[in-house]
Amino acid sequence: MAQLSANDGRSPAAAWLEAGRWSGKHFPGEWIAARSTICVREPATGTVLGEVGESQPDDLPSVVARAREAQAGWAAKTAEERAAIFRRAAAIFEANRKELTDLVIRETGGLRGKAEVELQGSIDELFHSAALLVQPEGHILPSRHPERLSLARRVPLGVVGVIAPWNFPMLLAMRSVAPAIALGNAVILKPDPQTPIVGGVALARAFEDAGLPAGVFSVVNGGATVGEALVEAKGVRMITFTGSTAVGRRVGELAGKHLKRVALELGGKSPFIVLDDADLEAAASAGAWGSYLHQGQICMASGRHVVLRKVAADYVDLLARKAAALPVGDPFRANVAIGPLINAKQLARVDQIVRDTVAAGARLMAGGTHDGPFYRPTVLHDVRAGMPAYDLEIFGPVAPVVVAEDEEDAIRIANDTDYGLAGAVQTASLERGLRVARRIRAGLVHINDQTIADYAEIPFGGMGASGNGSRFGSMNNWEEFTEWQWLTVGGKPTRYPF
Ligand code: NAD
Repeated sequence: MAQLSANDGRSPAAAWLEAGRWSGKHFPGEWIAARSTICVREPATGTVLGEVGESQPDDLPSVVARAREAQAGWAAKTAEERAAIFRRAAAIFEANRKELTDLVIRETGGLRGKAEVELQGSIDELFHSAALLVQPEGHILPSRHPERLSLARRVPLGVVGVIAPWNFPMLLAMRSVAPAIALGNAVILKPDPQTPIVGGVALARAFEDAGLPAGVFSVVNGGATVGEALVEAKGVRMITFTGSTAVGRRVGELAGKHLKRVALELGGKSPFIVLDDADLEAAASAGAWGSYLHQGQICMASGRHVVLRKVAADYVDLLARKAAALPVGDPFRANVAIGPLINAKQLARVDQIVRDTVAAGARLMAGGTHDGPFYRPTVLHDVRAGMPAYDLEIFGPVAPVVVAEDEEDAIRIANDTDYGLAGAVQTASLERGLRVARRIRAGLVHINDQTIADYAEIPFGGMGASGNGSRFGSMNNWEEFTEWQWLTVGGKPTRYPF
């Protein structure tokens, strides 16, 4: 099969992610030829980007054994030794910024700006993980016995399994992989099979070049079967899963059966509330961004535009004009605002939701058509409870507008979902903004902004069906990726009456 090099000949320098090293291989601690392969294609054109080795469930026991062995030595290294590797990995990503950005665009079908944010976010995660290692590892407790020291210390969990999605494959893998390894764990990553190069190979190569000891980081490739094998593998103490709520439930069920810690970052139906005193032009711009960025394939996408009746017609008019003006096409080869959907199944699902919602009485104000994998940004007006676009996470470039009678009604509609990932409110009044924002049941809420934002330093996570209460980001990573040990120390043996 014809294969392009990762940089498609656009850079005169040899590609850092040169395919010869990893083609047909997986990374169970080192690059090893797999029994079968997974072909990776650009969603925009179908062009083959490469082939990664496909792992099998029966590969897992040896991968875990190797990771367990490597973890003990890794955890014994000094914090400074560990931190240095993370700074080097960040420098490697920096040095290969252009090549990696191009590849993120091609493999995910996202815009250059999205790819730049994803790469920078991944670099930030590496630096923040290095910075975790200058923080205290525990504290001294009051002692019941003055001659003994009583300590609470954080210890690594052991081997952590990370399962990541395709929409921000590098960042959503890195935000678990980097802190988990920095805090002394070994990690086995399973990227989505649609994006295993930037979501797996790139991380493995960076840690390899940075000098991470072999076996501390492994990548296994495959879909549900390999994912479930990782969740069930004996010796894996924790699973962090980012993906759909349906699969998250399954992962949680299996993890519970095996008494494993599990962090679930799941789907969303995030409300974007427009009050009647909002700057409508700014609100329509933010709302379009919130629903159309990366073709709406973001967990925090604005899933319902909840607009007060007084301004609904004007807002929808502005939003529909914006949607109609956005250029759609291949983001690697043209200057567009909207790229392809990830695959044909997802495109058909989005189209069905739009059609069924219109058939149920909503009004199509823009879009609703597609050309190949490119779905036009769509505005649906007068969407109501019971319609598919009201109830379902769409994961496509669709802005469902729901009219609310007043502020109280807007809050009710915003919370009329099992999900609780993000929310936003647009208003000229800070007082109203705070009053509404405080009542949105979501993990991430913004006043006078849209719903999509994530940085390495924030507590990222959702409420309700958007997760299980886990939070990633900087300080929170201590909670996620370590557990407490109570340690007491005495200089002399303690004597007992027995
Ligand atoms: P998905 O749940 O289909 O797949 C996610 C990952 O799970 C992939 O690696 C997949 O191969 C793997 N997987 C599939 N079935 C599995 C199983 N039975 N056991 C173990 N692993 C399995 O999700 P997706 O389509 O890749 O991503 C879209 C979804 O992810 C959306 O619902 C989106 O909202 C959510 N998401 C959430 C966040 C967040 O941080 N909350 C971020 C991005 C995406």
